[in-house]
Amino acid sequence: MIEIRFHGRGGQGAVTASRIIAIAAYEEGQYSQAIPMYGTERRGAPLTAFVRIDDQRVRERELVHNPDISVVLDPLIAKQQAVVDNLKAGGLVLLNTQDEPEDVKLGGDFKVATVDATTIALETLGRPITNTAILGAFAKVTGLIKVESIEKALKKTFPGRLGEMNIAAVKRSYEEVKGPVQATVKEAPEVKADIHVGGYGVLKDVSSWRVFTPEIDEDKCIGCKNCWIFCPETAIEWNEETKKPSIRYNACKGCGVCANECPVNAIEMVRVEA
Ligand code: SF4
Ligand code: SF4
Repeated sequence: MIEIRFHGRGGQGAVTASRIIAIAAYEEGQYSQAIPMYGTERRGAPLTAFVRIDDQRVRERELVHNPDISVVLDPLIAKQQAVVDNLKAGGLVLLNTQDEPEDVKLGGDFKVATVDATTIALETLGRPITNTAILGAFAKVTGLIKVESIEKALKKTFPGRLGEMNIAAVKRSYEEVKGPVQATVKEAPEVKADIHVGGYGVLKDVSSWRVFTPEIDEDKCIGCKNCWIFCPETAIEWNEETKKPSIRYNACKGCGVCANECPVNAIEMVRVEA
C-alpha cells in the first residue's frame, strides 16, 4: 500500500487534489481512498488530506500516520506544519516552491522534488490554486499513476473549459518538475505546530498564509476607510492623525479584499517570494 499526505491551505484545493489522485488510481484498476482533515475551515488556514492506494481492498479507516509521500501545496506552510514528520525512510516530499530540490532546507532519509506550482497556476488558471498544478509533477516523480489517468479524473471533476485549463496546468507541472534528489541537510528544522491542527488557533501570526502581500501607496490613498472596514482579519489599522491606513502584517492573510475594495487602486498585491 502507498500512503500519501497532502499539506495545503483552505482555498488551494488539497482535498480536491487528494480526490483526483484517488479517482485516477481507481481508473487504473487500483483500490484507493481519500480522507480530508480540516482544521479551522477558512480560506488560508492550514489543512491536511490523505490518500491510500493499493492493489487490494483498502480496509484501514484511520488517518495516515507514516506516509510514503508528502505533497506540499504551499511554499510557506513548512514553517507551520511538520511536512516531513513521520515520513517513511526512503520516502519522497514534493514541494511547491521556486527553489531547486538541492536548496530545500528539509533533512532526513527521503528524496525531494520541487515544482513552481504557484506560477503555473497563475499562468494557466489565473489564480494561485495550486492543487492541479502539482498533480502532473506528482505523476512524473512518483510513477504511481499515469498523467493520462489524472487528466481523465480532472475531466470528470471539472467538465468543460475549467477541465481543459486544469489539464494544461497538469501538463506544465509534468514537464517542469525538478528532482527527485536525496535531501541535502541532515536535520529538519524544528516546527512547533502540530501537523494536524489548523494554524490560526495555534499561531496568531498568519503572515505565512500569504501568497500575495498588500502594499499601500499613501500618495494615491484618499482616506476613504474602505480597506479598514472590509478587512476580514482586522489587519488594517487606522491612523486618525494622518487619516491613512496601515497594515499589521502578522495579522494579514493576503486575501486581497482590501485591494479589491479600494476605489483608487492604492493597494497593490505583491507576490511573496518563499
Ligand atoms: S489582504 Fe488586505 S483585507 Fe486581506 S487580510 Fe490582508 S490587509 Fe486584510
Ligand atoms: S481603500 Fe484605498 S483609498 Fe480607501 S483608505 Fe484604503 S488605501 Fe486608502
